Amino acid sequence: MYDLHVHSIYSNDSYPWATFANICNEAIAKGLKGICFTDHVDIDYPGITDVFDLNDYCNELNNIINSYGNSIEIYKGIELGLQPHIIEENKAFSSKSDIDFVLGSIHVVDKKELYKNEYLEGKTDHEGILSYFKDLKLSINSFTDFDSLGHIDVVRRYLLNGESSFVYNIYKDYIVDILEYLIDKNIGIEINTSGKRYGLCSFHPYPEILALYKDLGGEIVTLGSDAHKPEDLGYAFNEALELLKALKFKYYCIFKKRKPIFIRID
Ligand SMILES: [Zn+2]
Ligand SMILES: [Zn+2]
Repeated sequence: MYDLHVHSIYSNDSYPWATFANICNEAIAKGLKGICFTDHVDIDYPGITDVFDLNDYCNELNNIINSYGNSIEIYKGIELGLQPHIIEENKAFSSKSDIDFVLGSIHVVDKKELYKNEYLEGKTDHEGILSYFKDLKLSINSFTDFDSLGHIDVVRRYLLNGESSFVYNIYKDYIVDILEYLIDKNIGIEINTSGKRYGLCSFHPYPEILALYKDLGGEIVTLGSDAHKPEDLGYAFNEALELLKALKFKYYCIFKKRKPIFIRID
């Protein structure tokens, strides 16, 4: 199995022992075939002024590939924070030739953090969800240089009344619109197993959204734990693969030099 959503200490929300080496050792111990590091590149994230040094990151990853590359496949990726007003800045990162995989994710809505519920100030959960979809659509309308959309229904995690406010049928039209667009652009979606780790009723996204993606003709699904510490690598992957099988997916994808490689689900 391959984990395509892994954070190291290059992400400021990771645990201090999430070094490249510790992650590789744990991945090998867990029997993973490969991992892709996807550290955060979140331009104009509220309160953060650090600039991500992509060259330094890739150089360090090349060193770790030299050390561990015989034991495990290691890919170089980033989790690129999508926002409607940073299109050109994001292109500067996604266009770097040394990268294998770009995971596009929404972490900020209306320039406010999802994480601290700030985007909900003065809003109901319903209004917050609509703002999330509006920013997501605006972001991808003008920027498509990413390979898979991370945790498409992550907003479920950050609602005043919990995920029960996110009723699939109410938002289905918005989701169809986004999925059709992604499929047209050959962009995949992610099963992010952290949903369950955070106590939600399912992975991200809801199984209904995965089924919809399949019905609409989508074939590119990446699998990620969103681990911020080595212990969480490959979290619940057997269950995720069973879910994909039940939904009649025959493959999931990894990415090498920005090209999908289809891995058969046994
Ligand atoms: Zn994320
Ligand atoms: Zn992440």
